Amino acid sequence: MRVAFLGMGIMGRSMAANLVKAGHEVASWNRSGGKNVEGARSAGSPADAAQGAEVVWMCLSDTKAVEGVLFGPAGVEQALAPGMIIADSSTISPSATERFAERVQARGVDYVDAPMTGSKIAAEAGSLIFMAGGDDAVLARLQPLFQAMGKQVFHMGGTGKGQATKLVMNLQIALIYEGFAEALTLAAKMGVGVEKLLPLVQASMVRSGVVDYKAPFILKRDFSPNFPLRLMLKDIRLALDAAKESRVRLPGLEAVKEVYDVAAEEGHQDLDYAATLTLLEKWAGVEVKAASK
Ligand code: NAP
Repeated sequence: MRVAFLGMGIMGRSMAANLVKAGHEVASWNRSGGKNVEGARSAGSPADAAQGAEVVWMCLSDTKAVEGVLFGPAGVEQALAPGMIIADSSTISPSATERFAERVQARGVDYVDAPMTGSKIAAEAGSLIFMAGGDDAVLARLQPLFQAMGKQVFHMGGTGKGQATKLVMNLQIALIYEGFAEALTLAAKMGVGVEKLLPLVQASMVRSGVVDYKAPFILKRDFSPNFPLRLMLKDIRLALDAAKESRVRLPGLEAVKEVYDVAAEEGHQDLDYAATLTLLEKWAGVEVKAASK
């Protein structure tokens, strides 16, 4: 298929590369230069990338970025053609998604929100899991692209339901990780080593995908971004906004947001969200590390 891929960040660049690998004709675009993908045409603007594309796929930071790329200067809107599909794998506001979809649908263009879970490793391996909102028939047309980038697609309902689902997924990831980080910190303070605690966690019902993914990075003290803290904080804010709109209280997430706010204020926003551990450690005056042999 002819695909315009917009946003060559941590996730987008690997996703576009996997589309090229699967034989699709890809035009890539990124706001800042120097992020080309081998085998893809480097476009000068979102409109240039979208010209003649069957599908425009976005993977951008936030709601404002998606709005600008779609409807701003030299935006995708200028190259819309009936029958085109716009798919968005960014994590953004569900209600803004509905507005964006309506605006392009008026021009005969289909819209699918398709945020994903799996982080950097799954993006590279082509094993992302997508949660999609949109029409069945449109999703079916996107199957070859989903297959090239991921291993599963969950169809959650109409437009916006993919984004709504993504927010409740990240709500859980943020709370599970913070529980793990607080447990590691208290354990360290009480003299229980991480190398003793981890095998027990893995053998018990406490085990989780979040712990499986993050534990090796924590052991190496590697807080380089797989999923930057600033993006998780954005998703926490989106979830709290959605909760407010829906008149739902989320006291646990409110508390976790305070930790993220301080971590961001202390300059950790571009590190992985696992770096919230370092703040807990600082407050406790302890460092989580394996005992030296
Ligand atoms: P990232 O590395 O920070 O990349 C963000 C991309 O958005 C870059 O291409 C950036 O361009 C572009 N961008 C930001 N602001 C823009 C603007 N105003 N106009 C145009 N382009 C703009 O982020 P990522 O980790 O790839 O994540 C992308 C999306 O996927 C986010 O919504 C994130 O929440 C979601 N997500 C991420 C993960 C993960 O583990 N990393 C997992 C699931 C979902 P520049 O290069 O010019 O800055």
